[in-house]
Amino acid sequence: MNKQIHILYIDDNPLDRALVRDSLEKEHGGFILTEARSQHEFEKLFHKDGYDLVLTDFNILGFDGLQVLEMVKKVSPDTPVVFVTGTGTEEVAVEAMKRGASDYVIKTASHINRLPKTIQAVIGAKQVRLEKEKAQNDLLKMNRIYAVISQINQLIVRTNDRDKLFRETCDIAINFGGFRMAWIGLVDETSKIIKPHCWSGHEDGYLTKIELPATDSSKLSKGPGGKAILDENNVVCNDVGADPIMEPWRDEALKRGYHSIIALPIKFKKKVYGIFFIYSNDLNFFDKQETRLLIEVADDISFALESIQKEQARLKAESDLQKSEKELQKAQSIAHIGSWYLDLATNEVVWTEELYKMYGFDSMLPPPPYTEHKKLFTPESWDILSTSLAKTSETGISYELELKTVRKDGSSGWMWVRGESVLDNENNIIGLWGAAQDITDRKQAEEELREAKEKAVESDRLKTAFLHNISHEIRTPMNAIIGFSGFLNEPDLPPTNRKEFTDIIVRSSNQLLSIINDIVNIASIEAGQVKYKEQEMKLNALISLLESQFKQQSIEKNIPLTIKTTLPDEQAFVKTDETKLAEILSNLISNAFKFTKKGLIEVGYSLKEEFLEFYVKDSGIGIPDTMQNDIFERFRQVESTLARQYGGSGLGLSISKAYVELLGGKIWVTSELDKGSTFYFTVPYKKVTHMEQPFIKPVAELELDFGKNKTLLIAEDEDSNFMLLKALLSNAHINIIRAGNGAEAVAMCRLNPSIDLVLMDIKMPVMDGYDATKQIKEFLPELPVIAQTAYITESDKNKAIASGCCDFISKPIERASLISKIKQHLGN
Ligand code: ADP
Repeated sequence: MNKQIHILYIDDNPLDRALVRDSLEKEHGGFILTEARSQHEFEKLFHKDGYDLVLTDFNILGFDGLQVLEMVKKVSPDTPVVFVTGTGTEEVAVEAMKRGASDYVIKTASHINRLPKTIQAVIGAKQVRLEKEKAQNDLLKMNRIYAVISQINQLIVRTNDRDKLFRETCDIAINFGGFRMAWIGLVDETSKIIKPHCWSGHEDGYLTKIELPATDSSKLSKGPGGKAILDENNVVCNDVGADPIMEPWRDEALKRGYHSIIALPIKFKKKVYGIFFIYSNDLNFFDKQETRLLIEVADDISFALESIQKEQARLKAESDLQKSEKELQKAQSIAHIGSWYLDLATNEVVWTEELYKMYGFDSMLPPPPYTEHKKLFTPESWDILSTSLAKTSETGISYELELKTVRKDGSSGWMWVRGESVLDNENNIIGLWGAAQDITDRKQAEEELREAKEKAVESDRLKTAFLHNISHEIRTPMNAIIGFSGFLNEPDLPPTNRKEFTDIIVRSSNQLLSIINDIVNIASIEAGQVKYKEQEMKLNALISLLESQFKQQSIEKNIPLTIKTTLPDEQAFVKTDETKLAEILSNLISNAFKFTKKGLIEVGYSLKEEFLEFYVKDSGIGIPDTMQNDIFERFRQVESTLARQYGGSGLGLSISKAYVELLGGKIWVTSELDKGSTFYFTVPYKKVTHMEQPFIKPVAELELDFGKNKTLLIAEDEDSNFMLLKALLSNAHINIIRAGNGAEAVAMCRLNPSIDLVLMDIKMPVMDGYDATKQIKEFLPELPVIAQTAYITESDKNKAIASGCCDFISKPIERASLISKIKQHLGN
């Protein structure tokens, strides 16, 4: 052992002291022995100097070895105490060992020789123990520092926020490093003052106390922080109590148990940005190894600061980019404008959001490759576009086009496109860039406008033609009626002529009536007043009736009319609107006669799945292909106005078409010029299994004699109409009385109980027929009132029924119908 061992020895017996001294001196200077002869001397010496070991006798005057042991352990627990005892006191020695003595030696000549070895062994053991303890402490310290490094590194990875980084760094120093306090101060670049930013641990107001006024420049460079800023290096103070650097803050620091301090500069852009202070409550805490590791921590924080700044700059750039992209997108979406880019080297295509919308593609996917862009346009538009693209990529001349697009779902649209070249630094064309706008709506509006204009012009032309026709169509029969009626008054007119003229008048009147019917019907259709009225009917009977109605014409024109009813009668009971079906057929047959000079006409029907398909076939003039759809439109006629051979208003087919559609079917024509036409139409086949057929007597069989006892009141303001009615009923032997208006009719019904039936005109002065009927019905609810009027629309009929009329007869009044209705309501 090189080092001498300082021993303080207490023993009141001079002989024993000599014995011990001798035994140690034999070791030639290995020991320095200080002797105390009393308690007093011992206490003085022990406090005065540090000793490596205390040697004590057991029995000392007024004092004993155990008390010495207690005192030493209290003041300097690491100082070993060895007992020198007399013989026979082993038990006491064992007790001393229990209380912490390191060993004992018996003071006899034979035993004392062991003393030097015992002391050396005790000192050796103490050193081993102290070294072990130190090693353990160092390990513990290192573990704490490594935990700090690891935690801070994890923190750096997960945070992008400077303040959080600083705050949590301080927390880690306390929680994982076990330090007393840690704080980070930021350095003001010009004043170099450190402003506390965050801290953790036992601070207790220290940071406010140590803050230096900005004006106190004398102190700025003082203290570990100030020095660290100046040196741009770490500063360690391992003894706060003694180190002059802590002068201004020493007292406050010691008060809070700070014994060692390290100030670590945190750098940003190569300048000191802040200081990381760590305070330990251990003296000499920051040795070389710890310092090295903590510098590493500070460097890591500096690095993190740089990357946070870079990340924030990146995020900001990203968000700026996103923002500007969004704004562009918004602007593009408002204007329905998109943009695109084509890389000529790679054929790579980029679209903005709006372009995806225009083509109907999902903007989350890449746009289709350039090779497939052909599909996005009609062939004509693609031809134009691809030629323009080729030209621009060669010459750099930009283009602007309106193209017809084909969207992903197959629908079509319109697009305005502008394309221009993109140049590199050497002015080579490397790509094409362009804008595109969806102009489908505009194009559609243009198209609609054009169509509407065409329609308006056409409709105007048709109306003029119609007025022209109609005027002609009305004037022709009127001319005949007026002209020939005049002749009838001539007394010398031979009976054959009279018959001929009357026939012309009747025919012309029917012609006039038919044209008026057409006009009223088309007006009703257009006003949406025509309703579907379903009833049970016999199909075959209707066809036969039509055959008989057209028989006369067939004979006159020498064109046979054939009918073909394919269903047996019991299969031909159906439900439909019979009146309209009859009208459609009648229209088509009458057209067939009108446009056929020779040959034949055939009418029939057949069952086609769920529909009855009717046809009217003629061998007439035929219809050119180009007109075969148009003739179903109002006023449309194949013949132009001036050179017309055939009359007509051009309304019949459009009425028929409207009726067919009302019945739930379709109408069409096949035709060949000069060969003939076949008109087809369908109606749903709604078969009726059993049908009660009302018994209708033929007019010829009608009993015309109502008997003298029946009284009929005719309410009619027009004399001619009254005269006509009277004439029509001249053979009926019925009492006829007249009321000139509604009010008179009411009064007469009230006064004359013998009235059996009223024929009520609707449009009359003073009181109209509706009101008159209502009043009559109030006091004679059973009296039948039949409305007779020139108003023939559906709603007129409904109004009459609502007023209380039991039936309805329209003008011009047919004799058969009049008589049949009167008969029906008179009850005989
Ligand atoms: P209108 O017969 O009063 O002129 P329509 O609407 O019934 O009116 O017919 C329209 C046009 O269709 C006729 O003017 C005629 O040019 C053509 N048309 C109709 N039926 C026939 C037919 N059977 N044969 C030849 N042309 C026809």
